[in-house]
Amino acid sequence: MLAYLDNAATTRMCEPAIAALLTGANSFGNPSSLHSLGAASAGVLDNARAVIANMLHVDKNEVFFTSGGTEANNLALLGGAAAMRRRGKKIVTTAIEHASLLEPVRELGRHGFETVFLPPDETGTVDIRAFEDAIDENTVLVSCMSMNNETGAILPVEKIKRVIANKRSPALFHCDATQSFCKYDFSPERIDADLMTVSAHKIHGPKGVGALYIKRKVKILPRVFGGGQENGLRVGTEPLALINSFAAAAGCSTEFKKNAAIASECKQYIIDALSPLDDVFINSPEKSSDYILNFSVLGIRSETMLHFLEQLGVFVSSGSACSKGKQSHVLSACGMIGKRLDGAIRVSFSRLSDISDAKMLVDGVMRARASIIRTK
Ligand code: PMP
Repeated sequence: MLAYLDNAATTRMCEPAIAALLTGANSFGNPSSLHSLGAASAGVLDNARAVIANMLHVDKNEVFFTSGGTEANNLALLGGAAAMRRRGKKIVTTAIEHASLLEPVRELGRHGFETVFLPPDETGTVDIRAFEDAIDENTVLVSCMSMNNETGAILPVEKIKRVIANKRSPALFHCDATQSFCKYDFSPERIDADLMTVSAHKIHGPKGVGALYIKRKVKILPRVFGGGQENGLRVGTEPLALINSFAAAAGCSTEFKKNAAIASECKQYIIDALSPLDDVFINSPEKSSDYILNFSVLGIRSETMLHFLEQLGVFVSSGSACSKGKQSHVLSACGMIGKRLDGAIRVSFSRLSDISDAKMLVDGVMRARASIIRTK
């Protein structure tokens, strides 16, 4: 038996998504071709766009397919800054964003933009007052993730647009919703976002596809040039199999409340079992995503724990999969140092998780504590 608890890194594809991969591949005409095979593929593309738009409660013309969350974040930030550069030079984001957001912002910093990375407070999130202090009339982009992928911290995205308006800032508001999409009923409208990133492989869809929501009338500039696909913003022949599969996965992820309740039960089971122990620290904020739990066992390094658990069939993460073993910039920004930082483990659930996964994790951690020799 396996307990796969690394769903924030990626998820196992669900059966409908695998089936849709094949249907999409069989529709081999180029959606831009004028003959009937092209029209059939254009129809598949249009249907998939409508499904994603429906999940986001937006118009399908506001959905632009990309190669994933990374590209959507890059397009939002680089394309947004390019469109806005005559109106101001300041970009405000948080220090706990995903690398695919931080790096394009740093790149913009090297090209003359003033960049602000707001640090988290002692609760692990970024207080709205930090945004109030940072956003001004010169701010052209504000980007804030909805939920952090390492700790599950919930960020104050619902209040940001109001701050932008109060400060008379022309800023576009971008939200990286990769860790909330299809887990909560989370829409651009609810937070009044201009731009929003989502990705397929976090919701049992395929890797290599995602989307950027761009509000009607909001103008950003393309960063890749070629044909006219995706309204000229993300050019290149559309990967129909991936897009069709993405839509199938999203279409299966509708029972938000039920799924979140099961994730929450798993998370609480682990917290109840581990938090009374003297050598365990819970690193996730009290108010955090039901789907993510970060904790440290003092004196057992993350990687040692990860491989110990793996031998028992329990798969976890030592942080963000994208940072591959490097110390977490998120936990460091939250002020964690020493053994707590060295021992951080992230477990993350999906709609396919159940309580037996949580039980296997707890059992594995108990065994690790009893048998691994601790670092001094
Ligand atoms: N943003 C967040 C918050 C993420 O967790 C991830 C995936 N780790 C990404 C962006 C990047 O998405 P993708 O893997 O689809 O490029």
